[in-house]
Amino acid sequence: MSKKRIFIDPGHGGHDPGAIGANSKEAENVLAVAIALEKKLKAQGYEVKLSRRTNVYVTLNDRAKIANEWGADIFISFHDNSAVNKTATGFETYIFNGSVSTNTIKLQKAIHEYIVRGIGLRDRGMKRANFAVIRLTKMPAVLIEYGFISNLNDERIIAFEIEKQARLTYEGINNYFGVKISDPTPKKDNQTHFINTVKDHVASCWSQHRILPSVVMAQAILESGWGTSDKAIKANNLFGIKAASDWKGQTVTLPTKEYVSGKWITVDAKWRKYNSWGHSIVDHAQFLKERPRYKAIIGNTDYKFVCQELQKAGYATDPAYASKLISIIEANNLSQFDNFDKEEEKVYSSGTLKAEHDITRESAARRKIIVEAAIKAGYNEIWREKLEDGTITADDVDALATGTIVKNHK
Ligand SMILES: [Zn+2]
Repeated sequence: MSKKRIFIDPGHGGHDPGAIGANSKEAENVLAVAIALEKKLKAQGYEVKLSRRTNVYVTLNDRAKIANEWGADIFISFHDNSAVNKTATGFETYIFNGSVSTNTIKLQKAIHEYIVRGIGLRDRGMKRANFAVIRLTKMPAVLIEYGFISNLNDERIIAFEIEKQARLTYEGINNYFGVKISDPTPKKDNQTHFINTVKDHVASCWSQHRILPSVVMAQAILESGWGTSDKAIKANNLFGIKAASDWKGQTVTLPTKEYVSGKWITVDAKWRKYNSWGHSIVDHAQFLKERPRYKAIIGNTDYKFVCQELQKAGYATDPAYASKLISIIEANNLSQFDNFDKEEEKVYSSGTLKAEHDITRESAARRKIIVEAAIKAGYNEIWREKLEDGTITADDVDALATGTIVKNHK
């Protein structure tokens, strides 16, 4: 292979930090990816030049000029997106919106296709715009927006998964030049595959334990990185549930990040090990059900409330845990899996019970639902106990339905 010249342009720098997220700055994120990519490309035999290697500012004109004078074969600019709407999410690429060569279109497609395979974010598409660096450069040029720094879930990837971004971009560049590399990221849609694998299991979290499927799925996605974490691969542990002394099953020891005294530190921890992802989901539901501090989430159908309650009850040390879960649910439309019947939902959300409902004919499961709704509506603790003991009679349910039990009776 004749030595191809690749110009990498990490955006911003120096007095210009780019977009600023909760945990990171664009200028730093993209520089880290650029340096990781440079290493891979050089190892593969490419010639590589960076517009900056440190936290300095280079003008847009100079970025293009250096690449033009060097005679780069391709120019790739790295950026992180940002939006006022904190739920905006996804990956996108740009080429110049004026006339471009067929190789420019080919370059965008080659890189876009590979990054989208593994980035773990929604595909916002191949776009065109009048950005200076892609207008002023003479060679095929593409600008990459890896994800939204303003979205906590996107930021988790663009700020903390540097190696993954570099690897996918490296694969895309080799794809453009028609170079075969070993073990490329498979084409299958990892996210669709993950959702299809776990959706029946999260559905049973609702039918058996009244824990909201969308939230369970979001927890699994966040904790396991769509099933790609060490814990998910080595222990089928999707939720990062640790193995305390009461755990009788198998364990593995792996490092983890903990938020302690206002900063992130890495510690070794012992984790529960399962035979499958399904076992992990069932165990997770039982784990929540068994702990009184999660009582408020049982039977609740409002995913925002459930996410916030999990955080409040101390499920995770991450101070942004609830907002991350909510972003994941909304970005992936996970509430589609909260498809319990609408009647049931109405009883829950209104918190009211209808006298005209012929409750005595209802199944045991149905009674349970109604009593749970009564508890949510503020009826006293005796009902929770009765429900948990399984000592609810048809008369009890009738009394609830006809409103002859006094609300908030102590
Ligand atoms: Zn930027």
